[in-house]
Amino acid sequence: MIFENSLTTIASIEVAAEELQPFLAGKIFIKGDAQYDLARSVWNGMIDKKPAIIVECRNSNDVILAVKFAGKHNLIVSVKCGGHNVAGNAVCNDGLMIDLSLMKEIEVDAENKKVRAQGGVLWQELDKATQVHALATTGGTVSDTGIAGLTLGGGMGYLMGKHGLSCDNLVSAEIVTASGELLKADKDNNADLFWAIRGGGGNFGIVTLFEFNLHPVGPTIFGGLILYPMDQAKEMLQFYRDNVRDTSDEIISYAGFLVTPDGLPVTFILPTWLGPLEQAEKELGKLRSFGTPIVDLVAETPYTQLQSLFDSATPTGMRRYWKSGYFTEISDELLDIFIRNVATRPSPYSPVLFFHIRGAAARVPLEETAFVHRCDQWDIDIISQWTEAEDDELNIGWTRSFWKEIEPFSKGVYVNHLDSDDNERVKNAYGVNYEKLRQIKRKYDPSNFFRLNNNILPS
Ligand SMILES: Cc1cc2nc3c(=O)[nH]c(=O)nc-3n(C[C@H](O)[C@H](O)[C@H](O)COP(=O)(O)OP(=O)(O)OC[C@H]3O[C@@H](n4cnc5c(N)ncnc54)[C@H](O)[C@@H]3O)c2cc1C
Repeated sequence: MIFENSLTTIASIEVAAEELQPFLAGKIFIKGDAQYDLARSVWNGMIDKKPAIIVECRNSNDVILAVKFAGKHNLIVSVKCGGHNVAGNAVCNDGLMIDLSLMKEIEVDAENKKVRAQGGVLWQELDKATQVHALATTGGTVSDTGIAGLTLGGGMGYLMGKHGLSCDNLVSAEIVTASGELLKADKDNNADLFWAIRGGGGNFGIVTLFEFNLHPVGPTIFGGLILYPMDQAKEMLQFYRDNVRDTSDEIISYAGFLVTPDGLPVTFILPTWLGPLEQAEKELGKLRSFGTPIVDLVAETPYTQLQSLFDSATPTGMRRYWKSGYFTEISDELLDIFIRNVATRPSPYSPVLFFHIRGAAARVPLEETAFVHRCDQWDIDIISQWTEAEDDELNIGWTRSFWKEIEPFSKGVYVNHLDSDDNERVKNAYGVNYEKLRQIKRKYDPSNFFRLNNNILPS
């Protein structure tokens, strides 16, 4: 019988892990193993946590064994899918990291417009499989983000105006709970758990299988960047704000500030149209009509290309610090604060993004899913990125002081955009659904076994 004793030292845990290995389809890595450092690395290069053990799972049974092992030995557990969480919650110090990144099975049912994908799949992998059938579900806008972390926190993407958030498209999930049970969650089975995992993050268990609704999308859609010089930023963003709201659900847009690869700071709009291609020019005509852009790259484009448009601007491994919030209005006063702070940004790699949430994503009633931020608004992100550790203080300091100025205008925060020093904002991310989430947490995870996340305390 395995897992006999409760162990305390890392050495004794490693010995016990050797007993676990024969029962697993995947592998165990400990410090010194060739794969250990690669497995513990995540998107944010500032994260350097060292788990006692990494269990690289291949199937649900591996996940169950890893959960039971951690429970038996009182180990803190972290869960990794795509490793994109900016706070680095996918990795832990001295605990057990459950790595799902090799659980990659995807099964498309094109006839019934459904896809089933294991808990380690990335959006680029899911999109590729579904786009073969000109189908897609709402996914994140950087293609190496994991489907798990993103969906469990909500999931904003270009399809959300027409088809809702990623979590709104979730049909069912298989989930390993803290007791090591594999449960099905959907509207008929463990409906409270199904409600909670659509916005409540990784608090309730480890999802080994997701089933999503699919919709006809592309494979060609219409959209792209329009860049403007910084001296037109205020007027351009006023124009954008005043013209983007009363449009059809097929239009989703980004705006904000970035620096081009040749070093030019610019302001931009990224409008996208999801409807019939023959209507695209007309439907996006208004949003493309401001002033004289440096360049207008709006064109017919493969959906998968749109989904990876920001990939090169957000490469894995750079040092990162984020501040983010929801804003229902972008006032002139707020625009002045943005423009002033962007002008002093210490790193040219740091974009500021306004992502417009609207349409179907904004219309879902508050009580229908745990995700609570259901109105027409912008998710605004100050994404600080730099390369050298000696610049940490400068970049973090700039981000914090920028955020301090805009925070009073903010109405809440997306749980998936909280950084490691945002603990006091976690409750705000769950809003009016927080107490209900606490009750469900008590039912499925009373000991708060899954706590390396934006944590919901059991009631
Ligand atoms: C460059 C970039 C772009 C982004 N763009 C978007 C966007 O367009 N839209 C959007 O909505 N968000 C976006 N995000 C935020 C994104 O949703 C979160 O970072 C999310 O946590 C990433 O999921 P992941 O699986 O890659 O993360 P991971 O770091 O692997 O996991 C994050 C957390 O999710 C939980 N988790 C992971 N896998 C599982 C699982 N199988 N079962 C249970 N819990 C699990 C754990 O609590 C874990 O700590 C972006 C983030 C980055 C860095």
